[in-house]
Amino acid sequence: MSPGSQRPAGADRSLKSKPPAVRRARRDLPARRLAALGGRRIGPHLPISGGLLKAAERAREIGATAIQVFADNPTAWRRRPEPPTGIDRFRTRLAELDIGPLAIHASYLINLCGTDEESWRRSVASLIAEMRMAVHYGARFVNVHIGSHKGLGRDEGIARLAAGLLEVHRGIGDSPELPLLVLENSAGMGDGVGSSLEDLVDILEAASTAGLDTERLGFCLDTAHLWGAGYALDDPDALDRLLARFDAELEPRYLRMLHLNDSRAACGSQRDRHEHIAAGGIGEGGMRALLTHPRLVDVPAYLETPGMDLGYDRVNMDRVRRVIAGRDLPRLPARAFAARSARPARARRTVPVGGCAAD
Ligand SMILES: [Zn+2]
Ligand SMILES: [Zn+2]
Repeated sequence: MSPGSQRPAGADRSLKSKPPAVRRARRDLPARRLAALGGRRIGPHLPISGGLLKAAERAREIGATAIQVFADNPTAWRRRPEPPTGIDRFRTRLAELDIGPLAIHASYLINLCGTDEESWRRSVASLIAEMRMAVHYGARFVNVHIGSHKGLGRDEGIARLAAGLLEVHRGIGDSPELPLLVLENSAGMGDGVGSSLEDLVDILEAASTAGLDTERLGFCLDTAHLWGAGYALDDPDALDRLLARFDAELEPRYLRMLHLNDSRAACGSQRDRHEHIAAGGIGEGGMRALLTHPRLVDVPAYLETPGMDLGYDRVNMDRVRRVIAGRDLPRLPARAFAARSARPARARRTVPVGGCAAD
């Protein structure tokens, strides 16, 4: 500022640009986050070991408009009986930030399709506990893997599943606060049930025959699992065909969630190996088709890409925005591919704030 100026200090600067705090607040406006994602609800699966509130703030920082969490250890049977402290603040904060719907991913141990009676009983009890806990979280969805028939055969496995789902719904009762139970397709590894559209159709039919109100069920399509099961999502026409078939054979309303993951396995290999967005077999063209498909505009998508707790949550949300906007994607460094995890990061570490290893 020149010595003769009458302006108060800082006035010149404020004409040229807003102070950083104001800039940040503007960038963080929920409407901006939503617009940058083409109006879609998209967000990562985040670990909550650093605290629920931290996960909510992290989702905001990386531009998410939806979020998925585990309500408890995903590889244990034991479920926490009481909701964690700070749950109300978490719900309020997500509402303030317009981040949602919130999905809760159930324990990986749950298998309603299997032979073993004790494991089936535990699965029913565990899923009931997840559904009840999800009410405290204000979650819209509880997402669970369909499971494995363990040698029973597909049809028997589906019948067991239907009986299990009925048992779960009897256990939780009927209340408008309850989340929707969302069944996730599998890649077909081992005796995995639910890797094809035919399986999903038969599951819905079996559930209905067993006496379940199918309005209380939905499906989640995991794109890496579809790829592993042989749906060639690198080809936009294959996606069109799949969605048209889904709508014709199952009805559109049953598609409630996407797990948006690329895959490092081969198409049709029945393997489930999640990869960073547009860095695997589905690739940029396939991801663009998924992220801009008009049929999917109202289907929330959750990322379960590698290294969420290492800063790759931000990297992958940025890749999503770039794919939607048709902007160039930066090449990922070799170390990004060392952040291997076929499953969402377990709740074991605090999320680094802004500490991205790859940008
Ligand atoms: Zn998934
Ligand atoms: Zn998976």
